[in-house]
Amino acid sequence: MRTLDFAGLSAPVIGQGTWHMGEDPAQRQHEVAALRLGIELGMNLIDSAEMYADGGAEEVVGEAIAGQRDKVLLVSKVYPHNASSKGIPAACERSLRRLGTDYIDVYLLHWPGEYPLEETVDAFERLRDSGKIGRWGVSNFDVADMEELHPPGCATNQVLYNPQQRGIEFDLLPWAHTAGMPIMAYCPIAQGGELLKHPLLLDVAARHHATPAQVCLAWVLRMNDMIAIPKAVNPMHVRLNAEAAQLSLTEEDLNAIDNAWPAPAKKRHLAMI
Ligand code: NDP
Repeated sequence: MRTLDFAGLSAPVIGQGTWHMGEDPAQRQHEVAALRLGIELGMNLIDSAEMYADGGAEEVVGEAIAGQRDKVLLVSKVYPHNASSKGIPAACERSLRRLGTDYIDVYLLHWPGEYPLEETVDAFERLRDSGKIGRWGVSNFDVADMEELHPPGCATNQVLYNPQQRGIEFDLLPWAHTAGMPIMAYCPIAQGGELLKHPLLLDVAARHHATPAQVCLAWVLRMNDMIAIPKAVNPMHVRLNAEAAQLSLTEEDLNAIDNAWPAPAKKRHLAMI
C-alpha cells in the first residue's frame, strides 16, 4: 500500500472508516473481521468517532486492534459539544477506554462548534503533552475556519470528497496544499449509493477491469496528500478497496469524470454529511 507522511507517521493512502459499525450486535463479528482483514491488507489507518453508535464503533475498533495496537494508526473524533477544556480530556478518556488503548494517534474536532477554538486547541495540546494523543486535527472546517485556527499544530482536516462532491477543489484543497496539510476524504465512494451505478463510472471501471468504487478511490487519490477512508464490512469490498490503491486513471478517464461532474468554478459552501 502506498503511504504518505501523516502527523509524523507513515499512513496508508487508503484507511478504513467505521461509521455505522457497532450499531447492530449481529454484525459485530463481521465488522471486527473486516477491520482485521483491512489491517492485514495494509489499510492500517482506522477512523472512528465518539459519535458513531454512541461509542459502539470505537468498541468494535478496540476489539479489532486488540493485540496489534502498535500496527495501527488510530484516528477518532470528539463531539463539538464536548470540545471544552474540561470536556475534551473526559471525552478522550472514554474513547481510550472503548478503544482499549492508552493513546489515540490523531484526535479530531468533529465539526466547528460553540466553544472558542483557542480553548479546544489548548485542551488538545494538553492531551498531547500528556501522551494521550499523538496529534490533533479538525473535520468539516472550511477555509475561513482553518484560517481562524492558525495551524501549525493541526495535523489534518477531514472533509467530504468524491466525484460528486468537489467543492473543496476550489479553495480548501489549494489552501491545504500550501499549508502542507494532508486531507482525509470521507465518503470517498459516496456511501456506496447511486453514484456507483452511473454509466460513466461503469465504463471507466470496465476499461481497467475494476469497479466503480475503485474508480472513485483512485480518483480521490489522484490528488497528493490525500487519505481516503472508505468504510466496508463486506470482505469483498475490503479487498477491492485495498486493491484500488494500485489503480491509476488515465487522462481520458479524468476528463470524462470532469465532464460528468465538473470541478467547481466558484466558491461553494463546504458540504457535510
Ligand atoms: P463510504 O463512501 O465509505 O461508503 C460506505 C458504503 O459503501 C458502505 O455501505 C459499504 O458497504 C459500501 N462499500 C464499501 N466498499 C465498497 C466497494 N468496494 N464496492 C461497493 N460498495 C462498497 O461512506 P461512509 O459514510 O462510511 O464514509 C467513510 C468514513 O468516513 C465513515 O465510515 C467515517 O469513518 C468517515 N466519515 C466522517 C464524517 C465526518 O463528519 N468527519 C462524515 C461521514 C463519514 P459494506 O459496509 O456493506 O461493505
